[in-house]
Amino acid sequence: MLYDLVVRDGKVFTGAGNPWFKADVGVKEGRIVEVGKILGDAKEVIDADGLAVSPGFIDLHDHSDYTIMVNREADSKVHMGVSTTVFASCGSGAAPLNEKMREEIRRFSPFLEEASVKVDWSTMEEYLSRLEEGGLSINVAPIVGFGTVRRYVMGMEMRAPTPAELDAMKKEIAKAMEAGCRGITTGLRYDPQSYAETEEVIELTRVVAEYGGFYTSHIRDEGDRGDPLGAVEEIIRIGRETGVPVNISHFKVLSKRFWDLCPRLIEMVEEARAEGVQVTADQYPYRASGTGLGAWIPKWANEGGNEELVKRLNDPDTTERIKEGLAEAMDDRGGPEAALISSYPLDESLVGMNIAEVAARRGVDPLDCAVDLLRDHVESVVEGKAKGGFSIVNFNQKEENVELIMRQPWVAVGTDGRVHSPEGILNRLIPAPHPRFYGTFPRVLGRYAREKGVLHLADALRKMTSLPASTLGLSDRGLLVPGMCADITVFDPETVIDRSDYTPAEATKLYPEGIEHLVVNGAVTLRDGEQTGARAGLILRL
Ligand SMILES: [Zn+2]
Repeated sequence: MLYDLVVRDGKVFTGAGNPWFKADVGVKEGRIVEVGKILGDAKEVIDADGLAVSPGFIDLHDHSDYTIMVNREADSKVHMGVSTTVFASCGSGAAPLNEKMREEIRRFSPFLEEASVKVDWSTMEEYLSRLEEGGLSINVAPIVGFGTVRRYVMGMEMRAPTPAELDAMKKEIAKAMEAGCRGITTGLRYDPQSYAETEEVIELTRVVAEYGGFYTSHIRDEGDRGDPLGAVEEIIRIGRETGVPVNISHFKVLSKRFWDLCPRLIEMVEEARAEGVQVTADQYPYRASGTGLGAWIPKWANEGGNEELVKRLNDPDTTERIKEGLAEAMDDRGGPEAALISSYPLDESLVGMNIAEVAARRGVDPLDCAVDLLRDHVESVVEGKAKGGFSIVNFNQKEENVELIMRQPWVAVGTDGRVHSPEGILNRLIPAPHPRFYGTFPRVLGRYAREKGVLHLADALRKMTSLPASTLGLSDRGLLVPGMCADITVFDPETVIDRSDYTPAEATKLYPEGIEHLVVNGAVTLRDGEQTGARAGLILRL
């Protein structure tokens, strides 16, 4: 047989968690056709002697809905060895959109216009075709966002839906599933999703059940609004009552006062699994989270959207109450020193400073400083001037918990990042991304598996391949065996490591070391650490 591609002499990890064996991998017409000793000729050969050969990595938690339209070669992902990514996440996606939402996106994401991406789609089907049209270097497994659907139907209303509204949301979710979504994502921590009771979420998830989809959630509370046990209980309940497999997005424990609960949270998941509820999770391997400061203020303050928030931030009485809530959140999250500014479009000189430092520079109280920064930013958003978000990297987790969660066999790997590029529009938009954008997968392999011995290399790879593939219901990916789609990552197990760091800005977007080659649907997309420009990625519709 003449193969399209043979990966020769590598240490093959199938992705099932078993030890490696030495073999060649033969690829033809986008599929793996043989794993073993291959004597036939090949149009293209990758020499993998001394290297590990694994199924392509799957990023189970990603926010690239918009940025991948600007960087279709998915630079940050390809260099990490990621062949498939998954979005929307945290309930927030790119469809369905109405005119008001489109207008907001155009205003809030001017980078799209700069990159000649016209925000003119409405439905999930239209959005996915737009993604497909221009070609992508990696695969995308689509998920529908609850927050997007709720805003589409109800705006930022802080109340339960009417029966008609609930019906409308069900219809939108069904439409998205018809278009190929593999499940639903919620971000019950975020407004307006936090306005929904569990029963509403269960009703909507039942629609997903009919299609055999799954449920993934940024749970209601990871420790920052008071009840992490209740939040894990809630997601288990959603799984139990709907029969849908549930996944805890970026599983972690925020807030010092809840750090000790981590073993109990894990136990709760174990108990539910023993009972037959399918619960999994994903995780990024960092102590710091990354989010917008708007998520730290009381949820009533966000009701009605940015226009209302600006009014509240200009009223001394409501500002005082917002400040009280913010003070509590800030305290739980390690104080103003632990809040590092990663993007602030109104003043880029603040990027890389923490809130305490900015406050000292301005000679004001840190809390007042945070409120000022937020007010100025939201005002500029409402006026249509802000070019991007106000983001914070926040050191709020305990390393022991990061490792404990990583050791659980039901925890996969997800970046919680975005497609990013060290050059061009995206770099101007997010000048200092969280290091997880560029480092997540090599960091688990290099720092946690090889250096710290937190888990075996084969187990780490399983968390990046067959485990997320099962969660997504991808029956022909995630394993390196004949018949599977030819998504293959080749890396050096002795040197693989992340290089991206929290500061300075230039260090946040350093490509990792040791990821040598990436094959996507049979096309070599990264060769000797260099992108080839291949766009063989597919939309992986359910
Ligand atoms: Zn999230």
